[in-house]
Amino acid sequence: MQRIYYLSLEFYMGRTLQNTMVNLALQNACDEATYQLGLDMEELQEIEEDAGLGNGGLGRLAACFLDSMATLGLAAYGYGIRYEFGIFNQKICGGWQLEEADDWLRYGNPWEKARPEYMIPVHFYGRIQHDHDGVKWVDTQVVLALPYDTPVPGYRNNTVNTMRLWSARAPNEFNLKDFNVGGYIQAVLDRNLAENISRVLYPNDNFFEGKELRLKQEYFVVAATLQDIIRRFKSSKFGSRDPVRTSFDAFPDKVAIQLNDTHPSLTIPELMRVLVDIEKLDWDKVRPCMGGNGCRDFLRQARKINPQHSKSLYQGVGQRFSCIKVYAKFPGDLDRMRRMSMVEEGSVKRINMAHLCIVGSHAVNGVARIHSEILKATVFKDFYEFEPHKFQNKTNGITPRRWLVLCNPGLAEIIAERIGEDYISDLDQLKKLLAFVEDEGFIRDIAKVKQENKLKFSAYLEKEYKVKINPNSLFDIQVKRIHEYKRQLLNCLHIITFYNRIKKEPNKHFVPRTIMIGGKAAPGYHMAKMIIKLITSIGDIVNNDPVIGDRLKVIFLENYRVSLAEKVVPAADLSEQISTAGTEASGTGNMKFMLNGALTIGTMDGANVEMAEEAGEENFFIFGMRVEDVDELDRKGYCAKDYYDHIPELKQAIDQMSSGFFSPKQPDLFKDIVNMLMYHDRFKVFADYEAYIKCQEKVSALYKNTKEWTKKVIKNIATSGKFSSDRTIAQYAREIWGVEPTRQKIPAPDDPRE
Ligand SMILES: *Cc1c(COP(=O)(O)O)cnc(C)c1O
Repeated sequence: MQRIYYLSLEFYMGRTLQNTMVNLALQNACDEATYQLGLDMEELQEIEEDAGLGNGGLGRLAACFLDSMATLGLAAYGYGIRYEFGIFNQKICGGWQLEEADDWLRYGNPWEKARPEYMIPVHFYGRIQHDHDGVKWVDTQVVLALPYDTPVPGYRNNTVNTMRLWSARAPNEFNLKDFNVGGYIQAVLDRNLAENISRVLYPNDNFFEGKELRLKQEYFVVAATLQDIIRRFKSSKFGSRDPVRTSFDAFPDKVAIQLNDTHPSLTIPELMRVLVDIEKLDWDKVRPCMGGNGCRDFLRQARKINPQHSKSLYQGVGQRFSCIKVYAKFPGDLDRMRRMSMVEEGSVKRINMAHLCIVGSHAVNGVARIHSEILKATVFKDFYEFEPHKFQNKTNGITPRRWLVLCNPGLAEIIAERIGEDYISDLDQLKKLLAFVEDEGFIRDIAKVKQENKLKFSAYLEKEYKVKINPNSLFDIQVKRIHEYKRQLLNCLHIITFYNRIKKEPNKHFVPRTIMIGGKAAPGYHMAKMIIKLITSIGDIVNNDPVIGDRLKVIFLENYRVSLAEKVVPAADLSEQISTAGTEASGTGNMKFMLNGALTIGTMDGANVEMAEEAGEENFFIFGMRVEDVDELDRKGYCAKDYYDHIPELKQAIDQMSSGFFSPKQPDLFKDIVNMLMYHDRFKVFADYEAYIKCQEKVSALYKNTKEWTKKVIKNIATSGKFSSDRTIAQYAREIWGVEPTRQKIPAPDDPRE
């Protein structure tokens, strides 16, 4: 059997209880049982901590993939780190973000099982010693990797896979020496140094931080996982035919390793090191058997952590992928050879890990069609021209179990009433709903479920945060990490413009809106933190202006995380996906909203392009620059001031920000933001301002007509099937891993209401 290994530094799982009940068809039975006990299942579910071992989309993708791999019956393992502290909890104090440590294991974790019998040593630092039979790595520091297993049940198919997360443990003999009393105490205290490796998730989304501890985390998960993979291979019938020395001939056919971005890319030199130096294989037997998807190239100094890697790299990859091969294909092109080098030039030799990933993998994929095309045309152009067959696309997806059945049972139910339940594991069947676009009963049901979800979310906000919102207003929602490229500031400019328009003509009719923005800022990202303060400050002015009334409310959704996404996504009318074209690799939040009956206002970026294509552009609010327009503007030179000078409403909004209209006690509070927008905005917010405002006017106009709005909602839901992670994983399986997914359905177990 082919085994799939999905390596990721992040698994953003959220809660597990309801997901388990959904996938095992136990939900009704458990509802019933708890009811009999005088308990409320929903209340019980709220007690569970989120497993927040991820930052955002990348970590959540890994979690969706685990669900789909199990549902498709693949023998797949997720491998990562069991961080003692996940993504921080966000508190908003006086409008500012404060970070609180996420002590998610405080009351224990009932879903995991420690497996000390599979504990594995991981070596760090040390030096290389040459002797008669090759090289030895000596004087290392050893850290033990203790695995914790969490079951990953497929959707009603009798499959349960495993997510194995490593925890760092100091060996018993750690710092063993001739103790005096003080030395002993210090030695015990020093165990923390080793165990810090799995202490905390780095809270950066889409940002490289070159910290030594982070690199140690990357090597830790890679080294422990590869040892585990090889141990399992050896114990299988394929690896054990020769009792003296394992044959690895079958390895590439029996093992597929998929890397989530470049974070676990040390897998490549580490696998080479293990096969050559430990297993004594010949270089040419070390066939690449890896796939990987990468977003950005980055440079690393891995030598300090594992000195043998630089040796493996120079010898191994250097030999397989020699300059000679490039030269043979492109004679005389010395510049190309230099650009494609895996060893960066300079006084300190650095390894280009992205280049290494491409060379060491048999397949490399982007995560949306536009992203894959950009990779081939820009960052990986030389590599694409050299080995075009390696480059693939796998458009991201989301699991319809968590992101529909679990979070929006009302919608799942009315869909099932029309087309049956099979769509849950075959999402393309949603297309059958196109037959109901003109069906008055279905239109009414869809609008009713949305209204119920909005009422429920309003009640939640009122109970938890003491804010009252108008449930009949248009719920306009942007939830995602706070990032300049995601352009929450463009959303802010629309809010301010909308506010100014009401103030200018207070007696005119406006379609009421509740604009909600949520997301965490990386603790060290100053501009992102200022953006949060700006949003809350705008809220303070807008929400307390009696002229505005309930025609506009601005809410910052505190501590956005998986369990909050499950509440807010089903309540959305409008999904904001407004990144600068060419900057969002795919996005997956966009897909959750589409599946849950929101319309999207978005740029032609990431998977938005394919979502609009599926839904039909007439059912999508597309605005702003395309990638080509952005490139053109770069050539011309982007000048924010030109837009400021020529668009009066934009000028008014910016002047209000800089004059302290939103921060009366501290008039220059937002000068950094204004200065950035005016003079060094890499994401060209002003260039899309006018198109965005016009597009928002169209949104309001359509929203007045509930029936026409709801028809577009139905068309969006019906055409969202492509964005199931089941489709994504089936493509990985067939086109990269070389396996055919099989889905076997089993009868649901006894369930009183099924
Ligand atoms: C889906 C999800 C994301 C990713 O959202 P994008 O809009 O694609 O950036 C981030 N955080 C959480 C909690 C999510 O559920």
